[in-house]
Order: sequence, then structure tokens, then C-alpha cells
Amino acid sequence: MNRFTFFNTLKREVEEFHPREEGKVGIYTCGPTVYHFAHIGNIRTYIMQDALIKSLEYAGYEVKRVMNITDVGHLSSDADTGEDKMVAGAKRENKTVMEIAKFYTDAFFKDFDAVGNKRPDVIEPATNCISEFIHMVEVLLEKGYAYVAGGNVYFDTSKLEDYYVFSSSVEKEALEVGVRDDVEEDVNKKNKTDFVLWFTKSKFEDQALKWESPWGVGYPGWHIECSCISMKHLGEYIDIHCGGVDNIFPHHTNEIAQSEAYLGHEWCKYWFHSNHLNDQSGKMSKSKGAILTVSVLQEKGYDPLVYRLFCLQSHYRKPLVFSYENLDNAAASYNKLVKRVSEFKKDGEVDEKVKADYEAKFLDAISNDLNTAMAITILYDALKADTNDATKLALVESFDRVLSLDLTGHANALAYAAPGVDAELEAYIQEAIARRAEAKKAKDFATADAIRDELLSKGIVIKDTREGVVWSRA
Ligand code: AMP
Ligand code: ZN
Repeated sequence: MNRFTFFNTLKREVEEFHPREEGKVGIYTCGPTVYHFAHIGNIRTYIMQDALIKSLEYAGYEVKRVMNITDVGHLSSDADTGEDKMVAGAKRENKTVMEIAKFYTDAFFKDFDAVGNKRPDVIEPATNCISEFIHMVEVLLEKGYAYVAGGNVYFDTSKLEDYYVFSSSVEKEALEVGVRDDVEEDVNKKNKTDFVLWFTKSKFEDQALKWESPWGVGYPGWHIECSCISMKHLGEYIDIHCGGVDNIFPHHTNEIAQSEAYLGHEWCKYWFHSNHLNDQSGKMSKSKGAILTVSVLQEKGYDPLVYRLFCLQSHYRKPLVFSYENLDNAAASYNKLVKRVSEFKKDGEVDEKVKADYEAKFLDAISNDLNTAMAITILYDALKADTNDATKLALVESFDRVLSLDLTGHANALAYAAPGVDAELEAYIQEAIARRAEAKKAKDFATADAIRDELLSKGIVIKDTREGVVWSRA
């Protein structure tokens, strides 16, 4: 097996990956909280996880991936304060919590699929696993890691030797100060870092979903779901646990605390965290008002795979800034790639030696801390290589097992829609040109530019000439 490395947050360094069972990987990824649409920042996290999983598969591993859907218990602060996100979502839309959960789960997977992600092998909503949560809380109480206070069950973090497992000593001090200064104080907690495993009393009494439990009617805390759902489907050990960097503290820290206290042994050796997508005003977040989704980008004329390329061109550990200008650049690159692939002839024999050489380079890039930007550079190199078209096409297909940009699918569609062949496309372009002329006449240049960009995202460039507007393929 090729050497495969990525940054392990637990060790704070790039590490060589060795699963527990040779050739097999059990991987858990925290799923969405379905009280609102997933924004393109959330989707960045899922694209980079998809790239990790497909890279492991490219390297020869057999991967089983489990993901939860948070449909209960996640409060507006990641600590145990604030309003329940699902209840707030239901109130906002005058619907029931389950209606909200269904609607936003469907919306999430529409965008998740559109950007070329493969669905996890197991997808489990938290509300399916209440009996497992109750069992874990019972065991934690029995083992002395939990206590009941004011009607709620809390995890006692003072029982652990090292609670802040992800942090250096300097970071630990900062976190301690941060937790101490947290605005809202829960007087039931013995230690500031203790967290709720099961609520029966919370400051909001209108909790819609409640279940019987040994501690009274109530509902689970947020963190418990990931520990239980992963163990239900992957057993006592997982190889890799993924999330965005905001999940490191407190969510993943608390997951480790309760899982290892419950199991009595180490639970997961490798933690993969991807960095955030920011916009001009900072971290993109669902609670910040207007939510930019992949579906919205699509309505604006961008192919969701252009957004995938935009993400893959940047390293997962770096923050990424979103702007339409950056996305337009990705659209132009995507269209050029599709055009190049559409020009290849399908006849000829694949040169297996050249193919293997490029595949080895590609594998090196993705196995080296998931260097997707380098993998794309190797794709460009392969397209320019001194070899025949059949070999280049075979390489495009091979690399697409990880990149999932559907370059050949789009190239075939483009070839099919050659000028003069597709009357529908021609009619669409002429209609867009007419709309743009109207907008320009009305001095609505923003709309005129948006129409030009819409065409560009479909691989069509328009030019204003003395003879009128002409179009060509990008
Ligand atoms: P949520 O639905 O809020 O629970 O988030 C789903 C996933 O998206 C989590 O793994 C978060 O860490 C991640 N996430 C949240 N905000 C961002 C962002 N701005 N950029 C990238 N990932 C994010
Ligand atoms: Zn989680």
C-alpha cells in the first residue's frame, strides 16, 4: 500500500495513516444540523471529506463511511446554552420540527449530490437512536463519569486526566479562559467544561421532541449522538473522524471524553479537520441571515461542479475566501478543461506505461496531505502530455475517481451540442443575448453582466462587435 498521509489534529502534525485492519477504513463524519439550508461553506467541508474518502479508495483502501443527521439537541451555542436550533427553525417557519428536519435533509442531499459527492454508506438521524443514547448515559453514570443535577445528566470532565486532548498547553490555557468567561452559566455544572448528556430541564420548556428516560422525559445533548451512531455502525474503534475546524472544540473534544470513558480504551486515532469558507465579512454561518447555497449558485447559472473545482484548487487546511470573481475564474478553468477533453479523439490504444506514470504522480499528490491542488496540476500536465488521446482520456477517467468533475460527461454533452447541431442551445443563447441587450438599454449593467457570466458558466463567451453580439465557445 502506498504511503498515505494527512494532518492528524490529535497529533498536531502530518502523519502516516495506518488503519486498525489492513486495507480497511472505518470513517465517521459529523453530519448537518437540519434546521436550515447547508451553505456553500458546509458543502466545502463535505467536498474535502469526499476527496479524502475517494483518495483512500484510489490508494486501494476499502472505506465504510457513517454520517449522522442532527435533528435534535444542537443548541445555538455549541456549548449547552441558547435555544435549540431545530425548535427555532420550526418556529421561524411555522412548521413542526420533523417537517423542518425532512425538508432541510432533502435540500442538503440535493446540494451534496450536485457537487459530485458520494453518499455515505450509512446515514442515521439522531432521533433514530434514542435508546442507544440512553444506554450510553446509563453506563457513564454507572462508571462514575456522569452525575445528575437539576434534572439534567452531565458529563464530569474533572474525571479525565486530559480533557483538552486536541490542544497544546498554551492553547489549553486560552480555552480555559474562554470557557470561564462564557456568558451564560449553568449553576448545575460542577466544572465549567462539563456538558449535558441528557436534558430533562432546560430553560425552554417548549422542546418539541421528548422521550421517556430513567431521568424523566427529556432529550439528548448534542455530542452524544456522534459517539453512539459511530459505535452502532462501526463498532468500538473508528479509524478516522472528520469535521470542520469549528467542531474541534467543544464537539469533538466532548465526543472523545464520553466515548473513551464509556469504552475504557482509545476510540479514534486520526482526526481530519478542514478549514472554513469565509466571505468578505468572515466565517460563513447559517445564523448570519441570507444563506448562499449550491442551489442558489446553480440558479445564477454556475455548474455545481465549478464550485467543486473551486474547492479542490485550494488546500483543505487553509481558510478559503469566496467571491464571485474567484468562482468565475474557476468556471473559466472548468470550461477550458471540458473543451480540451471534448477535442480528444476516442480511437487508439492506451499507452499503459504513460498511464501508470501519471497515475503514480496523481496518487503521490493526494497521498501527500491530500494535495488536491497538485492533483489538478497533474491533470493539466496529463492533458498536455506527449501521448495519444486515448491515454489522456483514460487518465481523465482515472483521476475523476477522486476529482469527480465529470469532465468526460460534460465534454460529451459539449460535443453533442456543437454549433448548428443543437437548436435548443442556439435559441437559448440568442434569447440570453436579447435579454442582455434589453438590460443594457435600461442601463441595468449588473443584470447585463450577470447574463454574460451565466453564459460563461455554460462555456459560451460573448463579444460586442460592430456587427453586433457574437458568441463562441470558451
Ligand atoms: P452544521 O450543519 O452547522 O452542524 O455544520 C455542518 C459541517 O459544516 C460541520 O462539519 C461544520 O464544521 C462545517 N462548517 C460550518 N461552517 C463552515 C464554514 N464556514 N466553512 C466550512 N465548513 C463549515
Ligand atoms: Zn459530530
